Amino acid sequence: AESALRQAQKMEAVGQLTGGIAHDFNNMLAVVLSGLNLLEKRLSRGETDVQSYVDAARDAANRASKLTQRLLAFSRQQPLSPQPLNANRMVSEMSEILRRTLGETIQLETVLAGGLWRTKADANQLENAIINLAVNARDAMPDGGRLTIETANCHLDDTYAAQHAVSPGQYVMVAVTDTGAGMSSDILAKAFEPFFTTKGVGKGTGLGLSQVFGFVKQSDGHIKIYSELGHGTTVKIYLPRLYGEADVPERATRRDAIVSS
Ligand code: ADP
Repeated sequence: AESALRQAQKMEAVGQLTGGIAHDFNNMLAVVLSGLNLLEKRLSRGETDVQSYVDAARDAANRASKLTQRLLAFSRQQPLSPQPLNANRMVSEMSEILRRTLGETIQLETVLAGGLWRTKADANQLENAIINLAVNARDAMPDGGRLTIETANCHLDDTYAAQHAVSPGQYVMVAVTDTGAGMSSDILAKAFEPFFTTKGVGKGTGLGLSQVFGFVKQSDGHIKIYSELGHGTTVKIYLPRLYGEADVPERATRRDAIVSS
């Protein structure tokens, strides 16, 4: 059975989602409606040079239509199937796809903690999350740079936990750091909003970080962004430590290893 807290967190994510969509959709409808009004006025005055109003309305309607398609794709997401998971192994196994994602001008560095605790999360979703973060990092470094993925055992203490509305305790952290453009505080404040993007039309969907946020929340985890304009960004994901027989630290495959490309 789902805990009340978890249910509440899901509702919070859903609320954020619908708020963002309503806003964007409304803007697009406003463009269509004002275009139709102007069109009507011009036509009633016998003017025939109205193509630009038709084009503007059609563009806005097309954008609204794409928005709802993305929303449908978003809501069709698979339910999570959490499983015991070794984040070090996952990051190691992803190095190939990450390198391909980053291209040649971006260096990939992984810093994997020795004796990393296990966590419990949906493996596909965590992989998606890491790829989403890597794509954002790549986009923030058009002139090249370095992407660092770091894992660590972390304890979120009572003060931090209370400040960030997360349960205190032990977590497995996966941090993705880039040396890119960074975010202004305005952008940072909106970064998790669904459909918020600063990338051009057809480039960004604005769903990457909101998906990562939703996944982390549903996994009873925590996510935090640190960013400095002109210097870079770190996104830290915390997933709860999995206790049990498996919490005997697995053989440290890499003890604080630093692997560079
Ligand atoms: P998208 O990547 O489609 O724009 P996201 O939700 O993943 O959607 O990101 C929202 C916005 O947050 C981006 O458009 C960008 O402005 C900002 N952002 C996200 N990650 C980074 C990063 N690593 N560096 C700088 N800005 C970022």
